[in-house]
Formats: sequence, C-alpha cells, structure tokens
Amino acid sequence: MTPQPNPQAGAAVKAADRAHVFHSWSAQELIDPLAVAGAEGSHFWDYDGNRYLDFSSGLVYTNIGYQHPKVVEAIQRQAARMTTFAPAFAVEARSEAARLIAERTPGDLDRIFFTNGGADAVEHALRMARLHTGRPKVLSAYRSYHGGTQQAVNVTGDPRRWASDSGNAGVVRFWAPFPYRSRFYAETEEQECARALEHLETTIAFEGPGTIAAIVLETVPGTAGIMVPPRGYLAGVREICDRHGIVLVLDEVMSGFGRTGEWFAADLFGVVPDLMTFAKGVNSGYVPLGGVAVSGRIAETFARRPYPGGLTYSGHPLACAAAVATINVMAEEGVVDHAADLGARVVGPRLRDLAGRHPSVGEVRGVGMFWALELVRNRETREPLVPYNATGEAAAPMAAFTAAAKERGLWPFVHMNRTHVVPPCNITEADLKEGLAALDAALTVADRYA
Ligand code: PMP
Repeated sequence: MTPQPNPQAGAAVKAADRAHVFHSWSAQELIDPLAVAGAEGSHFWDYDGNRYLDFSSGLVYTNIGYQHPKVVEAIQRQAARMTTFAPAFAVEARSEAARLIAERTPGDLDRIFFTNGGADAVEHALRMARLHTGRPKVLSAYRSYHGGTQQAVNVTGDPRRWASDSGNAGVVRFWAPFPYRSRFYAETEEQECARALEHLETTIAFEGPGTIAAIVLETVPGTAGIMVPPRGYLAGVREICDRHGIVLVLDEVMSGFGRTGEWFAADLFGVVPDLMTFAKGVNSGYVPLGGVAVSGRIAETFARRPYPGGLTYSGHPLACAAAVATINVMAEEGVVDHAADLGARVVGPRLRDLAGRHPSVGEVRGVGMFWALELVRNRETREPLVPYNATGEAAAPMAAFTAAAKERGLWPFVHMNRTHVVPPCNITEADLKEGLAALDAALTVADRYA
C-alpha cells in the first residue's frame, strides 16, 4: 500500500496524544512521539508520507511483521464468532493455541498458563516456583529485563528498575556471563563460562540453597544487550538447579517464537527449563498475549491443590486465535528457518564487516534475527559511546545516530550505547540488505564521537 500523506490528520492524532496519552518510560513533556498512519510487513509510515523499515519489530515482537493477512483474517473470524469468553471455560481458540505452543516448547513443558503479556508471565512463573518449592528467594541476573510490573521489576537488572525497585523483596542478583565486559577478568569464553558458574554456585552457597525457589534468566538476554551465553553456561545452570532443587525459569518473552532462528532460544543450547515464559512473538503482538509453559513436575504440584492466581483475560479468544494463525503462518512459511538462514548468511557477516570499517562499533553479537552492535568511544578501552543510563545531552551521540538512521528510512532499536538489529523474522533478503546499508551510513555519524 502506498502511503497517502495527510499531515492535517497526523497533527490531530499528535495533538490528542500530547494532551491525553501518558506514555510509558518517558518524561511526558520531553518526548515527541511519531504519529503512525499505517504499517504492513516490515514497514510503517507516518502522515507526512515518510516510510520506515522497522529494524526494531516494534518492541521486538512483530516476528511476522505487521498486518499479516492470514492473522488479520483469523482475528476477524474469531471476532465474528466469539470475541471473548471467561478463562474457566474450554474454548476452541484457547485450547488450540495451547496445543500448538506445547507442541513446540522443549521437553515436557506442555501445560500453558496464559497471561496478557510478558511481565505477568514472569510474575506467575515466580509464584509457581515459590509455591512448588516452599522457598522464598529468587536469583536473577544484573544484566536483564523481565518486565514493568512490581515483581518483574524487582528481578530486572536493567537500571530502569532503580526508580521503582521495592528493595530486596526476596530477590538476590548475580552476574551472568558477558565476555565483552567480563566481571570475572576472563580472557576467553571458556573462562567466562566456568567463572560465571562458580560465582553462581558461591552465591547459592552463601544465600543458603534451601532458601532459593528459582533462578530466572533470559535464555539470551535481550534488552540488556543480546548477550548470547557461552556454550555450556545454561547447561551448567541447569545442573546447579537440579543439584539444589531450584526451579529454572527461562524467560523467552523476547527470544521465543523464531527470534533466534529456533522456536525457542533454549533449543540453541539443548536445555529444558522447569518453567518458560513467552509473549511478544507468540502472536506477533497483534493482540496482547503471554504465558508460562509449565513442566509436568510443577503442574503436578497444582493437580489437587488450587493454583492461587489468574487474570480476567487469561487466554483471551481473540489473542489465542491470533496465536494459532501466527504459529501456523510461521510453520507454513518456514519463518524460523528463514531467520536462522538470514542471520547466519547475511546479518552476521555484514555486521562484522561494519565493525571492521566503523571505529564506533566495539562488538557485534547475536544469532538469527537477534543482533546487537555495541557502540563505543574507544575500541581499546571499550568505553561506551554514551555513559550507562545516560539521558539528555549525555545521550546526544546515540540520538545523532538514531536521527541519521531515520533520515535514511531505517527505524532502529536503540538502548543505552547499543543498536539492536531485530527486524521481523520474515523480512525479505532485499529489505534486510537495504536496512543494513542504511545502518552503515548512520554509523558514520556515530563514528564522529569515537
Ligand atoms: N521479559 C523479557 C525478556 C522481555 O524482553 C520483556 C519485554 N521487553 C518482558 C519480560 C516484559 O514483557 P511485557 O512488556 O509484555 O510485560
């Protein structure tokens, strides 16, 4: 569809937004949200006729792009038949979504507790772990993001939690591996992996293994920097959990449903958690949906004792119909393999080429359609291009990079000193290459600060 410019309509949308919409994670008067007129596939456009290639997949969730006709049609069909029905009933869209998800989750994670998104999935996974073990504490990683509700914020490591973290709340944080900025003075991935596991063991020993209900980890930490863990790390965590009777919760809200070129990132490492959270890609975000995939062992805990928690819209039929259609589209169109192939053949090599030519690129890392460029002032010292948690003037170099990308029709994902390359998993090779060329040009602006 060709964008039809209509600046007047755009101005009205913007004026109502500025007057009445309270935006998340924002100082209300310091933001200038783009008025979006439409979206299709990997693109969206504004009311002035500017068209953007979306290298952010919204908030890393439109895994099959915008407005996929089969998913839109499935939502319309479900709306005509049964828009909603309470969670205590068996409803076709809900049971079919659960069946399709359970078929794809690793191991025996085949009971699906539905939520409205990712944060509440994390809340419920941790509640299940505490009730299952009868233990109070949860261990989580510093470099992580698990959501914006209270318990999810408490286990989050991203500094955006600082303002709303309610204190200890039974949460103990530890350092997960990150070779580029090692906390363990490691010089190799193997050292990083071994030392990170040793650190986790020591943390557990000093906390008291019998007090720890769960370890929660993003399989591949996303918002915190797409840090693909070293080989062996997650298997090591699995073994530690087994030895101490600790529940392993893998958060796949961002990394699930094709993002890493596997249905779930856990498949990259052959690790099966006890609980796995998902949201976003489950239905490409067309209707809010998330959930927890529950192992047989934990489901057993609640077989004859009620699970004390739920949500009015749990397994909402419209959201579940969208999930059924999305999963079927992904399977029929080979979206997961497409993401793996383009990641290995196009994105990885081209980003490494950019790193060779742009002094502002400190490191390239990722897999599938899940990549990060770490931008630095100095490649030797690895000083970030902007300070940790920078805002305003201090964040200007990243703002300049972002503006340069947008001028070239590329909508980048930017967080702190990083840009993430996270386009829809079904992006065409031609669009992908066009976006990477725009990224190349925008990095020359970042280079000015390096
Ligand atoms: N966990 C992870 C790993 C996430 O990336 C996110 C969202 N970015 C969440 C949880 C929270 O999901 P939601 O915003 O849907 O509540």
